[in-house]
Amino acid sequence: MTARFHRYRIATRNAPLTAAPIFRTIVNRADFCINCGICQSACPYDVHERQVASLELRVSSPKTSAPDSLSSNPQPLSWLDVPKMADPKSHNCTNCFHCVNECPVGALSLSGNPDFHTQGDDFYKTEAITAVIFEADSGRVPVSGAGYRGPFAGEGFDGIWTDMSEIVRPTRDGIHGREWISTAVTLGRRPKWALINQSEAPANIEIGIPMIFNAADLPAVPPELLDWILKASLETQTLTLARAPIGKEPWKNPSAVLSSADASLPEYFSSLKISELDLTGRAPDQWLDCWRQRKKHNPKALLIVKAPLDTRLVKTYGQLALAGVETLHLRGSWRGLALCGKHLTDALRLIDDHLIDAGVRDEITLIVSGGITAAEHVPKTLLCGADVVALDLAVLMALGATRFDSSGKTLKLTGPWLPPDPKIAAQRLKNLLGSWRDQLLEILGAMGMRDVQRTAGETGRMLLNEELDKEFRGLFSPAQAADDPRYG
Ligand code: SF4
Ligand code: SF4
Repeated sequence: MTARFHRYRIATRNAPLTAAPIFRTIVNRADFCINCGICQSACPYDVHERQVASLELRVSSPKTSAPDSLSSNPQPLSWLDVPKMADPKSHNCTNCFHCVNECPVGALSLSGNPDFHTQGDDFYKTEAITAVIFEADSGRVPVSGAGYRGPFAGEGFDGIWTDMSEIVRPTRDGIHGREWISTAVTLGRRPKWALINQSEAPANIEIGIPMIFNAADLPAVPPELLDWILKASLETQTLTLARAPIGKEPWKNPSAVLSSADASLPEYFSSLKISELDLTGRAPDQWLDCWRQRKKHNPKALLIVKAPLDTRLVKTYGQLALAGVETLHLRGSWRGLALCGKHLTDALRLIDDHLIDAGVRDEITLIVSGGITAAEHVPKTLLCGADVVALDLAVLMALGATRFDSSGKTLKLTGPWLPPDPKIAAQRLKNLLGSWRDQLLEILGAMGMRDVQRTAGETGRMLLNEELDKEFRGLFSPAQAADDPRYG
């Protein structure tokens, strides 16, 4: 019997966050509304609806309840019984003003939500959070009529553009599948030569997308958080790095990867196919010994080594790779900075170059985490040298945590957070991955790439704002540029 071929896909469906939507505009309805319902017909986004509960109450309750009444049938509704309009669902409003124009008595108005710009912190602004919330709500790609509204220049991710040189080829349409683009990635050591004896093959694991969850660094609230993340990772064929055990037999979930700083081997490590050794708190000169200590107890298992992202440690990363480490997880700050102060993307390019020079880059898998909070960050991080990204803060944003402080080592929640209904929490994370995968496919298609694994370190497919800016300014003589304010 031949196995059936299944194309990888992420099943998305609407899972709106009703507890704490962030919205830009408040729709106001004045008391002199005559309940005509015109606004309900006018609005394409279901902002205006009638009070359903009130309608059901009237239909099921007789209008007259005289003791001598023999009939319990409800009275027919008159136009006076039509339920009143419910409070507008302002979070659905797109500011088209149609209902305001159509209201016959001028009872509707729109005003700015003063709460809108108070989300996130001084680094992550409301717009970034609302994009993630939309993606988790719907699983769709956010599209604005006026095109991309973000910055086209700046530092870090903002200073990188992707080379869409094949955007004119409609056949490379990864989202709709006319030409298949693979987003599968293999974690683990890649042998330098073809192996005759397959029993010598190093442990590796294939995942459906170059994104995993990093729950190990998240604050452990609410208690169900890890269960939701694990459910989402299992159903999307990816992995979750996690610190705390779940229930009595924690690591039976095949998508869970136990992350621990303990280099000696607790009993359960020996039965795991994959685990993570967190070296964050240890001196770099101890890293190799710690890895050997853990590895010797379970040499067949895939062991991820987690270390801080820091360009001053490139030689140590190289030594680890040469010694046989299969997968290196480099962790940046919550704001995407390396310990040396460089942005994650700049640091990663230097590290990737060093590993290439050392002749080991193709053998090792690089996972990068910290500050990856938008769909566009994924391809940009891959192009800078990562094979896989690990998502953390974006998980909390998707689940509705909108007030936090990302400035320190530990992420702090600074405001009230009403997590979503547990029935939809995992679906929201699947939606986020589905939306980000679709956006990755768009970029891969436009770059003419059919396999995401080819993007790792493909710096030639990036345009750097800093370099282009220098090149452009070089077209003018210094005196000319100095005289003309247009050239800065
Ligand atoms: S302004 Fe447009 S989107 Fe907003 S409530 Fe009115 S009709 Fe609906
Ligand atoms: S159109 Fe105006 S008057 Fe009619 S229900 Fe809507 S708000 Fe009320």
